[in-house]
Amino acid sequence: MKKLKFGKSKPNRYVLVTLATIGCGKTTTSVGLANLFPELIEHIQNDNIQSPGKDKLVLAALEVLSRKPVVIMDKNNHKTVERKQIFDGFQRLNSTIPKSKLKFICLNFLQKPPKGDTELWNITKERVYNRGDSHQSIKVEKDGIGNAEKIMRGFISRFQPLNTSVEPDCNFDYIVELDAHQENSSLENMKKIVTALQNYIEDLDLKTPSETDYLKAFEKAKLYKPTFSKK
Ligand code: GDP
Ligand code: MG
Repeated sequence: MKKLKFGKSKPNRYVLVTLATIGCGKTTTSVGLANLFPELIEHIQNDNIQSPGKDKLVLAALEVLSRKPVVIMDKNNHKTVERKQIFDGFQRLNSTIPKSKLKFICLNFLQKPPKGDTELWNITKERVYNRGDSHQSIKVEKDGIGNAEKIMRGFISRFQPLNTSVEPDCNFDYIVELDAHQENSSLENMKKIVTALQNYIEDLDLKTPSETDYLKAFEKAKLYKPTFSKK
C-alpha cells in the first residue's frame, strides 16, 4: 500500500459507514455519490466480498484511503457488533493515517427501528422485487421473492438502532440522518449527505452539484448492476 504523508496540508480521511436494512438504497445512494465526486469518493461494498472475513472490508477501505479522502463502506451494519468490528478493525490495521485525521461518519438510513414499520417494509420489498437478480447474492428471479423476504425479515429482526451515547456508536464523529420511506429517497439522501459533508468537512472542496448533476448521477446509479455474483 502506498504510504501517505499526513501533515497540516494533508486532508483528513473520512469513512462513511451505512446503517440500514436491505433495500434502503445504500448501494444506489453510494454509487450516486461516487458518480458525483469520482475524484474524492469511492464506494466499496460487503456484497462484493466472496466470503466476508471480519477484516476484509476494513482492509479494502484502507486501500481506498491511500488514494482518495472519502470511502463509503456499504453494508447493513444493522448490529452493534458489526459497527464495533469496523472501529476495532481500523484500530488494529491502520498504520498510515494518524488517528486524529481519521473521521467516522454514520449514514443512518433508519430513524426508527424497522420492526413493525409497514411503510418501510412495503417500499423495500417492492424495490428488492424489482431489483430481480441484479444483486450479488439475493436472486429474486432465481430463488423467488419468498426467499428474499425471509432474508430481509432476518435483518429487520436483528436490527439494533444507533445509540451514540454508548460503545461502539459513540466513536462516530458525525451522524447524517437519512430516510428510506420515500419513492426517490436515494436522490434525497444523496443531497442530504452532500450538504452534511459540506457543513462538516472543511478540508475538501465539495462543490454543490446542480439539480441536473444530481438527477444524472441518481438515474445512472439506479441502473447499477453488480459485476460480481456469489451464486
Ligand atoms: P440496498 O440493499 O440498500 O443496497 O438497496 P439498493 O440500493 O440496491 O436499492 C434496491 C433497489 O431499489 C435497486 O434496484 C435500486 O435501483 C432501487 N432504488 C434504490 N433507491 C431508489 C430510489 O430512491 N428510487 C427508486 N425509484 N428506486 C430506488
Ligand atoms: Mg446494496
